[in-house]
Amino acid sequence: MTIDISNNLDVFLETIPSTVELVAVSKTKPNDMIMEAYQAGQRHFGENKIQEMTSKWETLPKDIQWHMIGHVQTNKVKYMAPYVSLIHGVDREKLLNEINKQAFKNNRIIDCLLQVFIANENTKFGLFPNEILPLIEKSLSLKNIRVAGLMGMATFTQDSEQIENEFKILKELFFLAQKKYNQINILSMGMSNDYQIAINQESNMIRIGSKIFGSRD
Ligand SMILES: *Cc1c(COP(=O)(O)O)cnc(C)c1O
Repeated sequence: MTIDISNNLDVFLETIPSTVELVAVSKTKPNDMIMEAYQAGQRHFGENKIQEMTSKWETLPKDIQWHMIGHVQTNKVKYMAPYVSLIHGVDREKLLNEINKQAFKNNRIIDCLLQVFIANENTKFGLFPNEILPLIEKSLSLKNIRVAGLMGMATFTQDSEQIENEFKILKELFFLAQKKYNQINILSMGMSNDYQIAINQESNMIRIGSKIFGSRD
């Protein structure tokens, strides 16, 4: 069965408020599928492996905004520093320092999100809520990065009340941080299975893969 990506995008975009930014998660998907979404007007794409993202960046149109949504190894930051648009998964100070260093080498300011651990699983990365404000404060002295908001992933469960409660924790932390720091304006939460709950909890950036490109192997 072929997947009509352009139609999937149209249908999807009609179901979300225009104030919510859609990051189309293209990990494992080939360039021709990304181009189909691009032709339909999509410009923000998300990848979870730096190598894969970099080879896509090399061949695809340069006005694509690439989002790194996966766990980032410190020694690989240099490969994406020349072009990455937003790094969602910053979960430690050491990584923030390395992004700052590589951004400086490229004469850029790189936008980052702090990943918050909200799930009831020990498989997901992230900072604890009480680490967020101190790390934003520290980041102010790093001149080549800008912490622009927060990102989180809910537990993989059918229990929508649990997902909602986890997103609520993130939302409250987001508004607390925004009150203190003007630069905080992105709340990245919600995937194919839980984006409606996330939007109800005031997410303004969702990361959608399978609902646009079909399931991954
Ligand atoms: C893969 C991935 C997504 C997209 O998942 P879907 O269920 O296909 O929408 C979103 N966020 C992160 C961090 C991911 O790794």
